[in-house]
Amino acid sequence: YELLIEWNEKINLTAITEKKEVYIKHFLDSLYTIKAFDFSNQSICDIGSGAGFPGIPLKIIYPELKLTMVDALNKRIKFLDLICEELEIESNNVHARAEEYIKENREFFDVVFARAVAKLNILSELCIPFVKIGGYFLALKGSNTDEIREAGLAISKLGAQIEDVINYSLPYDMGERNIVKVRKIKKTKQKYPRNFGQIKKLPL
Ligand code: SAM
Repeated sequence: YELLIEWNEKINLTAITEKKEVYIKHFLDSLYTIKAFDFSNQSICDIGSGAGFPGIPLKIIYPELKLTMVDALNKRIKFLDLICEELEIESNNVHARAEEYIKENREFFDVVFARAVAKLNILSELCIPFVKIGGYFLALKGSNTDEIREAGLAISKLGAQIEDVINYSLPYDMGERNIVKVRKIKKTKQKYPRNFGQIKKLPL
């Protein structure tokens, strides 16, 4: 928390800075993913990790996780390198766009998760290609269930299906959230992900 606030003054990391709110909306919210999955011993990729949510809190709880955090902004990756060094956390922090990083990491991870990166249909195209067959994509979402319903077709085109939606409320009325648990059932066609221009212009 202290490093987050200190560095937030130099580089934009989060709009939430009040201690209790950071603890609940960032740290606790990241840990709610434990409700969706037993993370021990898995290879995990956090796409659009930003200041390290949900990757860092999970790695603190499960030090044996093989964690990769990917972000398109180098200043955020530099911050993650610093946090990992200070907390003695092992993580592969990668400065790349998901659509580029996929080239060497197709169907490579047991679990891929993402929070606050894009709408679910767009996010699915960025994330599902990284997941091994039989593995999971977990999308940490707000309370809007229309977005989840609308992404059903995209998820099936990418070779996956929604297995569960885990709903929870943060304490102190800090909001309702959903974790969309998506299971990969077959290989994603090589043409996905398309370049980001096409993904945005013609979402699946
Ligand atoms: N996951 C963090 C959280 O929940 O606090 C950060 C959320 S922040 C709003 C979104 C992050 O996703 C930004 O750091 C941005 O650089 C990154 N991002 C957006 N599109 C991306 C892409 N295609 N590939 C990699 N990172 C991306």
